[in-house]
Amino acid sequence: MSRIIDLTRQSMGWNNPPTTRTTNQIRRLAVHHSATNVGNQAIFQNHWRNQGWRVGGYHEIILRNGDVEICYVPTTVVNGVRSHNLDTYHMCTVGNSNFTPEQERSLIERIRFNMNRFQIPIERVLGHNEFSGAATNCPGRNMNALRNNLRLPTVTTPPVNNTTPNTHTVRSGDTLSAIARNHGTTVAELQRLNNIANANLIRIGQVLRLPTTNTAPSTPPQPTIRVGSRVRVNDNVQRWATGQNIPSWVLGRTYTVQQMRNSNNELLLTDVVSWIRRSDVTLV
Ligand SMILES: [Zn+2]
Repeated sequence: MSRIIDLTRQSMGWNNPPTTRTTNQIRRLAVHHSATNVGNQAIFQNHWRNQGWRVGGYHEIILRNGDVEICYVPTTVVNGVRSHNLDTYHMCTVGNSNFTPEQERSLIERIRFNMNRFQIPIERVLGHNEFSGAATNCPGRNMNALRNNLRLPTVTTPPVNNTTPNTHTVRSGDTLSAIARNHGTTVAELQRLNNIANANLIRIGQVLRLPTTNTAPSTPPQPTIRVGSRVRVNDNVQRWATGQNIPSWVLGRTYTVQQMRNSNNELLLTDVVSWIRRSDVTLV
């Protein structure tokens, strides 16, 4: 999991952006590179100021070590691709077509996270130079290869293999072939499991062993809050995990979990960019 550095209250123009939007207006993710070998928000900010911009160029920056600087909340419109910014969320990888493995991992993780929270399909994850009218070699990478990586399934934990012994008691009219068919196995397998030499000779009341089958766990796993989960702030909460009062308009609203800390007992909520106790939210 990449480390998140919250700079949303330190980036130029953060508290007075010229244009804002709702997250529902976000339709595209733009991938950039900085075209520099080093850099971060503090360094790029000088460049942004020199452009005469009131806000910066990227919502988030992926540093060479894979750390992620969050520069602006998603509802701030930034200056990533001229005349395409209103519906675009901008992500920049520091580098000049040469990216570190840590950055690549973070980029995939962050793109997936942003696709999920803004409901953006893979076809609208675009390199800067894929926007109409953009003449640039940014993002300095093959976007088709990146999109193919995004299509690969994420690693998931295999289900618990609960094997239980299974039997069938022979009833009047049963045949070994019917039993085999009903239990998704073969006559030969039943013969082998039960030491039956003659498949036509089974007797009523005989207990036959069946092949073990996978069954669902008896109790479903508890829903787990993780990064990317949607959680609702409980109505009776008074303070953030950091001690400040929670404004009343946050109560009952739903947010995406951006990061977790303290053994997952504190959650960073997107948009409000504040830490809340896990016990103060409900998974939705
Ligand atoms: Zn760019």
